[in-house]
Amino acid sequence: MNEMVLLGDEALALGALHAGLSCGFGYPGTPSTEIMEYLIDNYEKNGDPVAQWCSNEKTAYESALGASFLGKRSIITMKHVGLNVCADPFMNSSLLGIKGGLIIVVADDPSMHSSQGEQDSRFYADFAMIPCFEPTTQQEAYEMVFDAFALSEKEHVPVMMRMVTRLAHSRAAVTPVSPANRLSQNDISKGDRIEWMLLPALARKNYEKMLEKQKTLNDLSNQSKWNPIVINEMRDDLAIVTSGLGRNYYLESLGDYMQLSNARYENHGLPSMLHIGQWPLPEESLNKLAETAKTILVIEEGMPIIEKKLRGLLPQNTKVIGKLSGLLPRTGELNPDNVRKALGVPLHDSMLSLMISKNREASELLENLPGRPPQLCKGCPHHDSYTALNKAVAGLTANAGSDNVAVMADIGCYSLGASAPLNACETIVCMGASLGMARGASQAGCKYTFGVIGDSTFLHSGITNLVDAVSTKTPMTAIILDNSIVAMTGCQKTILPSSALEPLILGLGIEKEHLRVLATNPANIDENARIIAEEAEYRGPSVIIMVRECLEAFRIRTKKERAKAALAEAAQNNAKTGDK
Ligand code: SF4
Repeated sequence: MNEMVLLGDEALALGALHAGLSCGFGYPGTPSTEIMEYLIDNYEKNGDPVAQWCSNEKTAYESALGASFLGKRSIITMKHVGLNVCADPFMNSSLLGIKGGLIIVVADDPSMHSSQGEQDSRFYADFAMIPCFEPTTQQEAYEMVFDAFALSEKEHVPVMMRMVTRLAHSRAAVTPVSPANRLSQNDISKGDRIEWMLLPALARKNYEKMLEKQKTLNDLSNQSKWNPIVINEMRDDLAIVTSGLGRNYYLESLGDYMQLSNARYENHGLPSMLHIGQWPLPEESLNKLAETAKTILVIEEGMPIIEKKLRGLLPQNTKVIGKLSGLLPRTGELNPDNVRKALGVPLHDSMLSLMISKNREASELLENLPGRPPQLCKGCPHHDSYTALNKAVAGLTANAGSDNVAVMADIGCYSLGASAPLNACETIVCMGASLGMARGASQAGCKYTFGVIGDSTFLHSGITNLVDAVSTKTPMTAIILDNSIVAMTGCQKTILPSSALEPLILGLGIEKEHLRVLATNPANIDENARIIAEEAEYRGPSVIIMVRECLEAFRIRTKKERAKAALAEAAQNNAKTGDK
């Protein structure tokens, strides 16, 4: 097959299709969403392999485990914080006798472009003692899937693939394997039930087996083509370790770094170098580097996990430098400039003067531009919902004081209601936390507490907090902003339609008269504010569903409907022409 220009996420998805995937499950989250969108698109066109969004990352993980138990290759996709949600099945799955290859794809977001926190999922892989592949290019993202499935099935372990935003969301040419080299789906038997039952006596044995496997996994890392090592014995001053995108930035500065090295080190060439694309850490290769050079510079994207581990692994007289030592920045992403700086390579003269003149132009422009913080789309239904809530809150605060009113929000487009001009909420922590925090604040004595949550986030992990509120008859009001879509990640379908919300909430035990469904629009603001204040007075749990379709979802839906209508019309016209 010819080259294809693909996003990193799409390359990985295509790799999974060509490596015999049977089932893909995930929860949308930037920057991982496009993997599952690619697989779902394929599923809708070809009917196989299965690809589905799930309620949350935990349910996705458990579905993939079910497929793996059945001997099928499966993949789970999520953003880094999603791994916290499925940490329970994730950690336990490392003790199972994995049958069909199981890959957990986690997309980290260094610099928090679209996240509430920064995490490095390699810590999780290390914690669970499972292998982790970290691609540097789109081609590697494609190819590593084959190796990850093979390793998972050979060693009976789950395997993580760590992506990062820049790779997930940039495009490059990818050359897929020829059709003859693509793998078919597994057609093998179920897993061994003894290896899949984590009862204490059996789990203890599995844990011992997992510890024994570590030596093999380590040997495989030392021999892996993804961990290439180049030794230059002429340079004993420095060796370089790269991982992920760190290698790209190092390679970008190589021409100038070579000149600098030759000038400083009598043409002895570049320092020894090890790239780490497969975990666990290749200890033998790292020790080889330490035998060659006194100092090791680690260039890694994300948190300084390699640097940290090397300090305990290598002889004490080996100096390890990188992010922990302050040579590279701890916050934000790596980039070619901060890597050049760490290598001691000055910015090229022409580059420098270009940057200075461009910077001058840019700063002049910036000075004259008004600030543009992210905002809700103009006409977004959340704006009207928050305006009504603000009105109700103002009245309640005037009567009871601000310590007796608390508004907790959640993760979604509506998080933007926290900033000006709405300033409508006081907390944003993690998926589902709004309802739990509203309940906790109420139990702690706050008279009026609100948990504001989207329909999808409610189904993801808000629902269990509502169960707690019902079981404890906690006075609090859950406000579910139902815009019929998962808007923030690009308008995926909500896992259940809006029509399912009311029966679900009543089924949980919310009293019928305290489940209010309101159309949210400018004309209803006063009436909606009155109802919100009324429900806040109720000394038990109440739910208000505020309904209006997201504008973006409306745009996509009507575009699809128009295209469908145009196709139908064209078919009708063709039929008429044929009749004649
Ligand atoms: S995408 Fe939809 S929900 Fe998000 S801000 Fe825009 S209109 Fe509102």
